[in-house]
Amino acid sequence: MHPLQQLIKNNRLWSQSTRDEKPGFFLQLSEQQSPDYLWIGCADSRVPANEIVGLLPGELFVHRNVANLVVHTDLNCLSVLQYAVEVLKVRHVIVCGHYGCGGVQAALENSQLGLIDNWLRHIQDVRDKHQSLIELVPEPDRVDLLCKLNVLEQVTHVCRTTIVRDAWRAGQELTVTGWVYGLKDGLIHDLGLSISTPDKLAETYHSALANIAQDDDLE
Ligand code: ZN
Repeated sequence: MHPLQQLIKNNRLWSQSTRDEKPGFFLQLSEQQSPDYLWIGCADSRVPANEIVGLLPGELFVHRNVANLVVHTDLNCLSVLQYAVEVLKVRHVIVCGHYGCGGVQAALENSQLGLIDNWLRHIQDVRDKHQSLIELVPEPDRVDLLCKLNVLEQVTHVCRTTIVRDAWRAGQELTVTGWVYGLKDGLIHDLGLSISTPDKLAETYHSALANIAQDDDLE
């Protein structure tokens, strides 16, 4: 069987079993979506957003790119964020990185991979910003540390967008949170990084950074 035929076959089975379990599910979903969450995650195939957090279609709005970056001029990510916050009125924006991220590793090691190096440059900025902290840990642990620091910075970027600032100014309930997912155990590590008001950004940033530096397990 052609590999893509197998995917279509899988789809038919999934559709049927979902309809058997929840009659009317797709029809209801086709009329509207009202997810409470926006997920900004890595494109890595091992980090499937809905499955990790046990949410059904319709419950999670998703944006994924290499190394879960929120770049201030990335119209793709900003458009997703704007639609999620202003139209869908999500209550949570979750930036979820993952340990062992290939993008983060390539950035850390100055790998030369072509066009993507320009994208990874944003992670190198994070690396350079926290260079003294990174140098304190043994080399094998640096990738995972940078994965956490990257989430910390991307959460900050989300909070600093006009979209989130405007929502907060208008009194909209919105929390921006940073997590890191473990490929080896399938568990999410909460970085203690949840921001619901602009005045808490600096304080939360510094406490989360201190926790990361101490490698505290906050769970
Ligand atoms: Zn990744």
